[in-house]
Order: sequence, then C-alpha cells, then structure tokens
Amino acid sequence: MAKKAKTKREKIILECTECKNRNYNSTKNKANDPERLEIKKYCPTCRKTTAHKETK
Ligand SMILES: [Zn+2]
Repeated sequence: MAKKAKTKREKIILECTECKNRNYNSTKNKANDPERLEIKKYCPTCRKTTAHKETK
C-alpha cells in the first residue's frame, strides 16, 4: 500500500458570485484553507472572470 500524505482534501464546488452558476468542482486542503475559498475564475455564463466562492 502506498503511503498517503496526511492531508484532508475536501471536495468543494465553486460558484460564481455574480450569476450563481456552479462552474467548477475542486478540492481544497482544509488545513490550509479553513475558511471559505474565493477564487477568481472565468465564468462562461458571465463571459468574464469573476469571483467564485466555495459552496456545498
Ligand atoms: Zn457568472
């Protein structure tokens, strides 16, 4: 069995803060990011780069 690093990666969905579309699935390291993530990503619905927030 391969040894895995002790990291808790959580599945998250990134939602556009402008149109509320869920554009991206991602994972995050809860140890590094205990708070909600907010990442700038391209939104195909808004057709521009917008802030994407973690949602569940
Ligand atoms: Zn959008």
